[in-house]
Amino acid sequence: MRILVTGGAGFIGSHLCERFLKEGHLVDVIDDLSTGKITNLKNCLSNEKFNFYNDSVINERMMYTLIDKSDIIYHLAAAVGVQLIVEQPVRTIMTNIKGTEIVLDIAKKFQKKVLIASTSEIYGKSEKIPFKEEDDSVLGSTTYSRWSYACSKAIDEFLGLAYHRQFGLPVLIMRFFNTVGERQTGQYGMVIPRFVKAALMGEPLNVYGDGKQSRCFTYVLDVIEGMTALANDPSSFGNVYNIGSTEEISIENLAVKVKEMTESSSEIKYIPYEEAYGQAFDDMRRRIPSLDKIQAQVGYRPKVTLDETLKRIIDFFRKEIMLEKS
Ligand code: UDP
Repeated sequence: MRILVTGGAGFIGSHLCERFLKEGHLVDVIDDLSTGKITNLKNCLSNEKFNFYNDSVINERMMYTLIDKSDIIYHLAAAVGVQLIVEQPVRTIMTNIKGTEIVLDIAKKFQKKVLIASTSEIYGKSEKIPFKEEDDSVLGSTTYSRWSYACSKAIDEFLGLAYHRQFGLPVLIMRFFNTVGERQTGQYGMVIPRFVKAALMGEPLNVYGDGKQSRCFTYVLDVIEGMTALANDPSSFGNVYNIGSTEEISIENLAVKVKEMTESSSEIKYIPYEEAYGQAFDDMRRRIPSLDKIQAQVGYRPKVTLDETLKRIIDFFRKEIMLEKS
């Protein structure tokens, strides 16, 4: 197969490309390197079945050529990360909506399969745990920039499902819960790379709010297992699926765990949200997926525990820090 990965230089995209190349597919990546990094693709660049295009998904002419050539599109290009969203709300909204519009419109011309990466942010402040795909979105006020991300992704989902219903386009929506692993950067807000790096550098681990908010973190290769299983199952198209894990941990317990596992003497500091984000911030307390739908469809079950995931991320950052120092 010839596979197009938009946003392929990002954290999840780069792992996906490695997997496809291992399976012997041809892989094209388009990424404007706004949040992705070319170094994320260092295991792919020398492969003759791999092509990298440093360009934006907003470039319609380029997208036309790439989609025409491909059999399936994994549309991962998006502005993500809470910090980035709060700091650059216009970019979040424009990149996320316009990019998806272009992908779907061109895919329709060639009747190509499209997988759209969405997010558990869609559930917003819902307290109906665990979150099922058909549950309501409970989003906050437009005066909080963070909700622009969920709203932009909700539009992407509506649009993808509309193309499926109206034009029969094979579109599949994947709602990622907190995905973590090697190569994820803490630069745009993600908590695990931040905590691990801080612990290894002897810097404070900054827990926002009271630290009682919780998340379920999923190892990136487990997420990729779910994505590819769905993509290989024709009856999954036209549907929305949660992809994540149900192993819940509070952010303050996560800080303690990272500190223990790294044998760090870093301090755990509690920081009010206003101070962390420079504005009032609406966090969600708990975020747990129901995995019933994806389990019933493709038998998906995440395999890597949080402890094992953290071990791998700690090893990754230890090596990164050593390289930076040398
Ligand atoms: N968080 C934190 N310290 C940080 C970064 C994040 O305490 O340095 C908190 C954040 O407020 C949220 C949780 O960790 O409650 C997960 O944040 P992340 O940005 O990784 O993902 P989110 O679930 O918010 O999309």
